[in-house]
Amino acid sequence: MQSKLPNIGTNIFTQMSQLAAQHQAVNLGQGFPDFPVPERLIVALARAMNDGQNQYAMMTGTPRLRQAISDKTERCYGYRPDADTEITVTSGGSEAIFNAVQAVVQAGDEVIVLDPCYDIYQPAVALAGGRSVHVPLDAQTFAPDWQRVRDAITAKTRMIITNTPHNPSGAMLSEADMHELAGIVQQHGLYLLSDEVYEHIVFDGARHESALRYPALRERAFVISSFGKTYHCTGWKVGYAVAPAALSAELRKVHQYNTFCTFHPAQAAFAEMIEQEPQHYETLGEFYQQKRDRFRAQLADTRLRPLPVPGGYFQLVDYSAISDMDDLAFSRWLTCEHGVTGIPLSPFYEAAPDGQRLLRLCFAKSDTTLDAAIERLRRL
Ligand code: GLN
Repeated sequence: MQSKLPNIGTNIFTQMSQLAAQHQAVNLGQGFPDFPVPERLIVALARAMNDGQNQYAMMTGTPRLRQAISDKTERCYGYRPDADTEITVTSGGSEAIFNAVQAVVQAGDEVIVLDPCYDIYQPAVALAGGRSVHVPLDAQTFAPDWQRVRDAITAKTRMIITNTPHNPSGAMLSEADMHELAGIVQQHGLYLLSDEVYEHIVFDGARHESALRYPALRERAFVISSFGKTYHCTGWKVGYAVAPAALSAELRKVHQYNTFCTFHPAQAAFAEMIEQEPQHYETLGEFYQQKRDRFRAQLADTRLRPLPVPGGYFQLVDYSAISDMDDLAFSRWLTCEHGVTGIPLSPFYEAAPDGQRLLRLCFAKSDTTLDAAIERLRRL
């Protein structure tokens, strides 16, 4: 049989989680919180199930949740998407990304991705019959080089995918970046897929530059968000896409025949959370900043060198003072021999920079988990 995805195996997050379990390692690999979800969410979910909201939801998402998302988007980014025509609730940010790509990428099209990038984009592009064109971010700062992006554009380029705050590096696009990006998508008539699932996890008073703030971007963009990241429930798989009505209509054609609708009782719970407890997302940055700062202070006692983390919940560390192993070998060795699991960076690249010695550690963990990891890392 000829595989449609010949180069795809089990992803690095699953591989490392399995290895961590085998070796009882402290798992700072796969990005998921190990602390509880807000109590209100659990209560509201149980209530929705008891109240009988257990059948198919509306294909596009419940009206109440779409309204809550519209209100929240206006509060956060000064733009009020139409709840009926511009917001689609999906089974996680992942489904929204897949749908957006299938909706607009045609056979033979090219899609620009910025390396290192999350592993979900390229297979979606391949299944649409398109080709991912990888443009590297700066190896130190993970900032885009817009000239290199411009140089990669051809007559076949259909879409560019951005991610801010960025997985794996935590780098964030600046206002100047957004203006550059707007110039590019306008000039070349490209669609933008803006993956903003870490939108509320931003530090040091920085502003998250959502594509929704910029008219020139949002008129060509699918903006993707995830409740899993915001409400500590990555396993619930609920997210959404905001896009202009014409683009949303195309995305919904895919969504309708992909999952049709998203887990109904959770939609009631998220609507209640957004309406009743906006302080949760308003203070999420502070919550994670404390974790980041505490973890970085602890890392100072190890031979790992932490890189700056402007946003998101991943800390990159340079391990070159400890070992010259490549990152796949190092992450296995660290798990098997020292009981701490991180994620190597090379799987996020088409071609990783030579000699890069970086590991991604997730700090969306309880203090107990992080302390246990540091205890082991200090011995390196
Ligand atoms: N988003 C998660 C991460 O970056 C991975 C999710 C998955 O395992 N597919 O760690």
